[in-house]
Amino acid sequence: RMLKRQIACRSDINRMNAALLAIYESLIPPEEEKAKQKQLLALLDKIVSKEWPGARLYVYGSCANSFGFSKSDIDICLAIEDANIDKSEVLLKLADMLQSDNLQDVQALTRARVPIVKLMDPETGISCDICVNNVLAVVNTKLLRDYAHIDVRLRQLAFIVKHWAKLRGVNVTYQGTLSSYAYVLMCIHFLQQRRPAILPCLQGMQPTYSVTVDNIECAYFDKVEKLCGFGSHNGESLARLVWAFFNYWAYCHDYANDVISVRTGSMLSKRAKDWTRRIGNDRHLICIEDPFEVSHDLGRVVDKFSIRVLREEFERAAEIMQCDPNPCVKLFEPY
Ligand code: ATP
Ligand code: MG
Repeated sequence: RMLKRQIACRSDINRMNAALLAIYESLIPPEEEKAKQKQLLALLDKIVSKEWPGARLYVYGSCANSFGFSKSDIDICLAIEDANIDKSEVLLKLADMLQSDNLQDVQALTRARVPIVKLMDPETGISCDICVNNVLAVVNTKLLRDYAHIDVRLRQLAFIVKHWAKLRGVNVTYQGTLSSYAYVLMCIHFLQQRRPAILPCLQGMQPTYSVTVDNIECAYFDKVEKLCGFGSHNGESLARLVWAFFNYWAYCHDYANDVISVRTGSMLSKRAKDWTRRIGNDRHLICIEDPFEVSHDLGRVVDKFSIRVLREEFERAAEIMQCDPNPCVKLFEPY
């Protein structure tokens, strides 16, 4: 009877894995979307270079880090070398020019934490946000993309986690839940911690890429094509990893003491980072160290209400993965 049950279990796991992989596949942006993004980028490039000939446009965020779903907005960074520019002025000028070029819904948000111009291109239907000189975001985008090239299970796991977070309403930073960027870092860290490890710690290796941005040295091993097969000693399936991810954040993470750190590929203590006290609005109820801006806790948006929401959602997901032989329906049930 025991054997029969094990076989049933294995067929459940296989079915679960196939269902999760099908969801992952359905979220991947099709090629024609990439072409449309390129078309819009070329148009913006033409507009920008008229006013700022030395400037460059960089795509960052989900359209460039390989964790973007179909129909994502594009995040663009306008990089201007001149250190004396006034960001608000640039954004207002840019908004003006975009408007005269028939782009729609143009809006300059100069007082946001990251000031941007928003726009929609009627030709391609794509929306985008343009910021100025946010080069650190371009660099952390590259780090995420490089990690994704090492083992496909990172992209698969992060797609499932992001999809779950969006449907369950826990991917809204202004409501105190986590950004997509934070969720991807949680996935990278989780795969660094598997035994055998599925991902290495790129910032712990001999650097092959190094830039200094805003006085922060960003250096890591980026020859990731040399690392393909790194995780092959670990045969865990996507279903197993999704289960273990939620189980970790529901029942195993030490919220009172631990900080997850992709930079070191290990756990740090809140005490060592001096993240034990509330300072201003930073409560450090869930601690995720930014890989480059190490004083930056991506969990700082989380407050005493939203931490409960978040932990209840992790527990709910862990329970569904544990008990439901066909978990995909309930797991992704809209909130
Ligand atoms: P989505 O698919 O939800 O749009 P995204 O990958 O674009 O996901 P966001 O959380 O919107 O993720 O962030 C976009 C980019 O901005 C990230 O890839 C990262 O480079 C940068 N970023 C976002 N939040 C932070 C932050 N708190 N600190 C530093 N960089 C950040
Ligand atoms: Mg985005």
